[in-house]
Amino acid sequence: MIPRIDYDRPAALDTVLDVLLREGRRARPLAGGTDLLQLLKDGLLEVEHLLDLRALAPTLSGIAVGPGGALRIGALTTLAEVAEHPLVRGSFRALAQAAQLSASPQLRNMATIGGNLLQLNRCEYFRSDLPCWLHGGRSCLAAEGDHRHHAIFPQAPCLAVHPSDPATALLAFDARVEIARPGGAVVEEPLSARLKDPDPDDPHHFHLEEGELITAVLLPPAEGESVYEKAMERAAWSFALAAAAVRLSFSDGGRVAAARVVLGGVAGRPRRAEAAEAALLGRPLDAEAVAAAVEAALEGAAPLPGNAYKVELAKGILRKALQRLSPQAG
Ligand SMILES: Cc1cc2nc3c(=O)[nH]c(=O)nc-3n(C[C@H](O)[C@H](O)[C@H](O)COP(=O)(O)OP(=O)(O)OC[C@H]3O[C@@H](n4cnc5c(N)ncnc54)[C@H](O)[C@@H]3O)c2cc1C
Ligand code: SF4
Repeated sequence: MIPRIDYDRPAALDTVLDVLLREGRRARPLAGGTDLLQLLKDGLLEVEHLLDLRALAPTLSGIAVGPGGALRIGALTTLAEVAEHPLVRGSFRALAQAAQLSASPQLRNMATIGGNLLQLNRCEYFRSDLPCWLHGGRSCLAAEGDHRHHAIFPQAPCLAVHPSDPATALLAFDARVEIARPGGAVVEEPLSARLKDPDPDDPHHFHLEEGELITAVLLPPAEGESVYEKAMERAAWSFALAAAAVRLSFSDGGRVAAARVVLGGVAGRPRRAEAAEAALLGRPLDAEAVAAAVEAALEGAAPLPGNAYKVELAKGILRKALQRLSPQAG
């Protein structure tokens, strides 16, 4: 049962920003509601004021090429629109695939790209409101308990993984986020600079100052081909156990000229695998290069007994992604 909460649907962005600044975390923007409303029902967030963003859809949703050539995806754009839009499918295929592999068709029609970046982690202890570190308790319950779905790279004390598929793909395109601030200022920053580890004061994986709102995600013009692969517990509609977003471009001689390799489902933030990128650069994308990149990407993994399987899973997913970009990779 949701406790009494004030509800408004402001018609102006400035009103939203003013309320967010004045009321701090007691006020929350409401987009598709697919995560926020469940968190409220489960008593996992204390919120006194919901600011429904839907009246701002004319300015905060939609996909178009901006003046500098970047693709601008409004924060209220649904994952279904991201998955289906021809400009995304054309030049940012891994993002379209990541959106398409997120949740269910019904959820994708409601879930927005802005809300996706602010969703909370899916650790079962956290979602069951058990007194783990992230809920202000002393320790991570998953570390000693069930950590099958948790991080395989060292991180402490919270072992939860970043839940978003689109975030993993966005990093492969060096995406930026456009953020509105109180007083009307709008800033653009790399998405990577805003990703953070969750903590008891702010369990989100995305850093927002009080009074800030994501207004868009920006994708600079992207060269090359890209792909997103995801391993799930069920065949569909579930979060990534491991995922890989890869973007490669090739020289005229067929060698890798530029590479982005990002792993999802393995750490508290999507993990850019720079060692894997280095292993690919300047080489033809043959079986040897793929094997070297896969090993390099998982270097430093330190799984717990219950999630050691994810190391091989992540290797398999990355291998598959690279092979899909290269007909000659074995
Ligand atoms: C059954 C199920 C399966 C799922 N599977 C996947 C999956 O496989 N992959 C995946 O990536 N996701 C998955 N999700 C998560 C889903 O994608 C997110 O719940 C959704 O994207 C959140 O978007 P929303 O618009 O509904 O956000 P809301 O629920 O409305 O809000 C979520 C958070 O974002 C904040 N917020 C919303 N918009 C803004 C904004 N513009 N600026 C600042 N803060 C904002 C809200 O205040 C809130 O804190 C799943 C969810 C469910 C319920
Ligand atoms: S992984 Fe994080 S959210 Fe889960 S039990 Fe540990 S501290 Fe809590």
